[in-house]
Amino acid sequence: MKRPLPALVGLTVLVTTLACQRAQAPPDEPWQLAESARELVTDPELEARIFKALDAAAAAGTDPGISKYDVRTSTVIEHQGVEHTIIGGNSEYAGYPEAIHGETSLMNHVINIVGPEPARREVDFIAFHTERQCGGGGSCGDCRDYLMTTTKWQDLLMVCGQASDHTVHIHRFAKWVVPESEFPEVAPEAIGLPPQQLEELVQAALEARAGGVSLFTPAEEHLGVAALTTTGEIYRAAGADDAAFHYRYPIGAVLQQAATYRDYFVQAVVVTGAPGTTPRVSYRDRQYGYEFSSFNGKRGLPPIQLILVEESRTRVDGSESPARRYRMITFEEALPGAFSAASFMPEAVDQFLEERAPR
Ligand SMILES: [Zn+2]
Repeated sequence: MKRPLPALVGLTVLVTTLACQRAQAPPDEPWQLAESARELVTDPELEARIFKALDAAAAAGTDPGISKYDVRTSTVIEHQGVEHTIIGGNSEYAGYPEAIHGETSLMNHVINIVGPEPARREVDFIAFHTERQCGGGGSCGDCRDYLMTTTKWQDLLMVCGQASDHTVHIHRFAKWVVPESEFPEVAPEAIGLPPQQLEELVQAALEARAGGVSLFTPAEEHLGVAALTTTGEIYRAAGADDAAFHYRYPIGAVLQQAATYRDYFVQAVVVTGAPGTTPRVSYRDRQYGYEFSSFNGKRGLPPIQLILVEESRTRVDGSESPARRYRMITFEEALPGAFSAASFMPEAVDQFLEERAPR
């Protein structure tokens, strides 16, 4: 009985303290569902929990020292007959542009209070309280990965309450999820690369997959990646894990290498996984690809093509499963509703690219 108590008490104290310090007067006007949100929320009990969560999120503490961008979150759930209002918020590191995000903070707090299984079962919405405009975009790639692990995401609603006019905008989380099985399958000749170059890229990715560090990564999730830039260079990388679980994602790694050589404009990224499987590309890695594809957009270049390669597998009887298969998509399509530095600070990205990679 001793074990879970300190964390729970600590959090309750924290939440109460924050609420005391930051509590605001109740809004003069009640929250109102935007027209488009009404078809997603028809149950008055759910509506009441959403409005309650938005009031609670307004008081959530945040610490965005670098971005100055507050993300205040909350949810209201009923667990074992008791209603819990739980808050979360973003906070950033000093110096390094790294952050704990509002959604991950919130779900971590829910798990602290009710445990992982009830959290997965009972969290049906995440509410964001904003002093700005509700943009309608999705979470970052990493938050998508975490929410797909910790929630019943197929039914999850993402709620944004706009403080300025108290309108509440709601989207299904699932609209920002694109499974690899939905990436269109293409013939090699439809990829748009000379056959020899495509083969070179695939071989580079396969060789990369033989390396990396996979002490904790399951074999079917270990990926090898190769990137072709507009200069004709090929870079390669594999995933790498460690005991602190600060995974080095392979697409992020290959793009970082290209950037190290000021080779910022990428044509294609090829991903290989375990033989006989469609490689699974995390949403966090899609975010890295999306960010780089936005550099292409700045120069009027086509978006990066993300190409998944399913290698044939040798069966126990020695025969081969069907020959190599390709799926192809853009990062923009694989990460709908995404944001990048190019959307937040377009002039800064223009200037950066002009300095590092003059035309
Ligand atoms: Zn995030």
